[in-house]
Amino acid sequence: MRNILIIGGGAAGFFAAINIAQQNPDDQVTILEKTNKWLQKVKISGGGRCNVTNHRSKPSDLVNYYPRGAKKLYKSFERFTTTDMVAWLEAHGVETHIEADLRMFPISNSSQTIIDCFVKASNDHGVLIQRNANVTELRQMSDLRWEVTTLDEQLIADKLVICTGSSPHFWRKLQAMGFKIANPVPSLFTFNIEDDRLQGLSGISFSNCSIKIASTKLEESGPLLITHWGLSGPAILKLSAHGARELAVMSYKFDVMINFLGYTTYEETRDLLISIRAESPKKNMSNILPELPKRYWLSLLRHCEIDTEMKMGDLGKKAINKLTEELFQAKFSVSGKSTFKEEFVTCGGVELSEVNMETMESRRFPNLYLSGEVLNIDALTGGFNFQACWTSSWIISRSV
Ligand SMILES: Cc1cc2nc3c(=O)[nH]c(=O)nc-3n(C[C@H](O)[C@H](O)[C@H](O)COP(=O)(O)OP(=O)(O)OC[C@H]3O[C@@H](n4cnc5c(N)ncnc54)[C@H](O)[C@@H]3O)c2cc1C
Repeated sequence: MRNILIIGGGAAGFFAAINIAQQNPDDQVTILEKTNKWLQKVKISGGGRCNVTNHRSKPSDLVNYYPRGAKKLYKSFERFTTTDMVAWLEAHGVETHIEADLRMFPISNSSQTIIDCFVKASNDHGVLIQRNANVTELRQMSDLRWEVTTLDEQLIADKLVICTGSSPHFWRKLQAMGFKIANPVPSLFTFNIEDDRLQGLSGISFSNCSIKIASTKLEESGPLLITHWGLSGPAILKLSAHGARELAVMSYKFDVMINFLGYTTYEETRDLLISIRAESPKKNMSNILPELPKRYWLSLLRHCEIDTEMKMGDLGKKAINKLTEELFQAKFSVSGKSTFKEEFVTCGGVELSEVNMETMESRRFPNLYLSGEVLNIDALTGGFNFQACWTSSWIISRSV
């Protein structure tokens, strides 16, 4: 009987433990979890609903959602993709449903369903779960087994699986052992903006804007949402993920330029206003642009000091130019970030060059495997972060 220790009782740790135990019924698999609760992030994930995976399943599609890890994950997804996870859940009694944007959730819309499933499967396959087991030291012995020290005891492992998530403490430990660690910085956050144009408009959304970050090549498009603190929505979250490193270097102080209507040039946007003026000169200014949420348009008029009761025909060249600027490349100053409550992750972690992606084993240390957020892999929102955990942990179960 081999002793297999999993460090970390999160999504990656549980999925590795269950599948390893299922594959190797003669081995003893034990999860060592630092806190007195397991699967805490699964519990709060997706606003308590757990966006467990995504309906997109082709590796070539999936990799587009990973700002870090895309290239290396391609082959991994060929082996265990989102549909495999859905089938796994179904085989373990969990039905899932697909939302319009292709995110997938348990049909119960409760993350507790996933937790109950994982805990039951662990018990069914004889996985031991030790809580309050904070791993403080790792040492490889001369026979290549591992000596693992927790606050209370010393254990010996034939195979060691590290699933400690975004623990700075554990990353420092791994770095001291020689692992290359990409500097961890936050990903998936919203932008803090104090601006009279957004004042009192929290909750208003735009269906498709294009947003650029000044002095960078970062540009994304998609829905945008005004919040109490500034701007959020898919376009902002994509920018925060793709720009995680650059924006950290800028200390989260930068300007964004927003194209609200999506026209490709300034001239096209201005022509729209000019043609409305020509066609409907008697129209009240407050009612001319149904493409934009009305409350935002009124706020823009106030910002540009244009009387909302004025007729479109009375709009002068200067005012047209000012409004065009506001619609085509409105500049907002970002000063800080806020946590997106639905999902946030860390960009950074153990460099993928340290890992043989076919086995998820460390290239530096035999019998040591890594999965989940401890690795330098992270994704956009949509169930992709969990999928990286499921895929890597499943591969480990086939290689130990
Ligand atoms: C609010 C929120 C919502 C999210 N929602 C979603 C979502 O809906 N869909 C999605 O795909 N992703 C979501 N994510 C991201 C997802 O939760 C993570 O990608 C995923 O949980 C990473 O799993 P993990 O097992 O690698 O790490 P974790 O879940 O962080 O687990 C690591 C575990 O290791 C333990 N540990 C750390 N150090 C030690 C040690 N020294 N000894 C023993 N144990 C240790 C920790 O206590 C922890 O339990 C969300 C994240 C957040 C914060």
